[in-house]
Amino acid sequence: QAKQIKEKFEEQLELMDMKNEVGLILTGCFGLCEKGPVVIVYPGETFYTHVKIEDVITICQEHLLKGRPVEKLMMKDPIEKTKIKNISQLKFYSKQKRIALRNCGNINPLNIEEYIAKDGYQALADVLTKHTPQETIDTMIESGLRGRGGGGFSTGKKWQFAKDSVSEQKYVICNADEGDPGAFMDRAILEGDPHSVLEAMAICGYAIGANQGYIYVRAEYPVAVERLNIAINQAKQFELLGKNIFGTSFSFNIEIRLGAGAFVCGEETALIASIEGYRGMPRLKPPFPAVRGLWGKPTNVNNVETLANIPVIFLKGAKWFKTIGTEKSSGTKVFALGGKINNTGLVEVPMGTTLREIVFDIGGGIPNKRKFKAIQTGGPSGGCITEKDLDTPIDFENLTALGSMMGSGGMIVMDEDNCMVDVARFYLDFTVEESCGKCTPCREGTKQMLVILNKICEGLGTLKDLEELEKLGHMIQETSLCGLGQTAPNPVLSTLKDFKHEYLAHVVDKT
Ligand code: SF4
Repeated sequence: QAKQIKEKFEEQLELMDMKNEVGLILTGCFGLCEKGPVVIVYPGETFYTHVKIEDVITICQEHLLKGRPVEKLMMKDPIEKTKIKNISQLKFYSKQKRIALRNCGNINPLNIEEYIAKDGYQALADVLTKHTPQETIDTMIESGLRGRGGGGFSTGKKWQFAKDSVSEQKYVICNADEGDPGAFMDRAILEGDPHSVLEAMAICGYAIGANQGYIYVRAEYPVAVERLNIAINQAKQFELLGKNIFGTSFSFNIEIRLGAGAFVCGEETALIASIEGYRGMPRLKPPFPAVRGLWGKPTNVNNVETLANIPVIFLKGAKWFKTIGTEKSSGTKVFALGGKINNTGLVEVPMGTTLREIVFDIGGGIPNKRKFKAIQTGGPSGGCITEKDLDTPIDFENLTALGSMMGSGGMIVMDEDNCMVDVARFYLDFTVEESCGKCTPCREGTKQMLVILNKICEGLGTLKDLEELEKLGHMIQETSLCGLGQTAPNPVLSTLKDFKHEYLAHVVDKT
């Protein structure tokens, strides 16, 4: 729809003979997805939401021609109930800090010059001309950046392992196989700021000694794939990829590989197998990819959001980055906020922000005056967090301590009308579908859990079934081969812990 609105603007500006006076740019995501399509008119940053084709003529004739902003098309603040006249008034952004999303919505992702104008590729230039590979890794370690794809491992240490592996050929992989059904931050970055990912991959290549990178992106993201291809070609034309970058001896190339959408291919060894042309199945670690990865060579795998942070770390310094967030989790995290919430969309907050701030201050609270019940974090592998823990500062450790996890950053809010048994069944159904089938606990165990859960949902379950469900969940957690199986029971176990009464309401034999 945004594309059609852009075409309508083009047509209208032509008719009004204003084509040379008004620049029209199709950007990436602003974060406020629920309010889209969004049109922002500069100067003044007037913010129009839910724009329809027929609104284009009004905006052109009233705002662009006569200079009169159109109040009826402005968004109403769900809390203050006043009209939002420009971006700075949006409470949605007031507690956010945009590092990974810094350019999304602010530049034309199809134009490398706009990225360069925002200091793009400056970090790569500085690293290549002023720092050794080891100094580059030291900066990464000092920044404290941890993998944003779910693992939370130190990015700098991961680079160090790959650097320390001796080989003439090494690889850098960008994991853009975003498979969590509630997460779309990687897609937004790839669509809105593809060069930040390319720049970070080149920095990583220099640091670990790799000259070849691959972006493994799901084919269901056609816009991201198209924009990545354009970005790679532009970077080559500007000699920012290819041979002797910035006149140094460093050469680096990037190619795209398309994934077919299997959730398990987000796991790095399965992803590597898929690039090699095999069925995407995880394997035992060690050896880790840093030692034996793609085609048996040392390989570093980082996800999109992790990479998007990296150029800024080198521009502003590791110390600056470390001042944001908590002691053990520096920087920010992007969350995809969905479910029963007013401001559905992408939010980027400093680590340490509380869930309450995200749900009520940024998310605008629960619609239709309903009561908050729980928030599911970490996608299908995560757990549900209740009202009593809403004031917990978010970081990797705290979410795990609450029985959930950071995951890739999906956050689904539930209100009093949601049945938590049903929520658990939805996620379990997803992981059963996505299990690759390699190991028995995950392949058979999750299926058996789903059979029991379905029985409970149909009102035929017993107390013994609840016990069996819990026992199976713990067994699968402890014995599965990869993260998918190890975390698949989380939604069931966390709801059994906090919402046992809802399970009990479903069972027939309550004695
Ligand atoms: Fe495959 Fe599940 Fe075993 Fe992972 S845990 S290897 S997804 S069967």
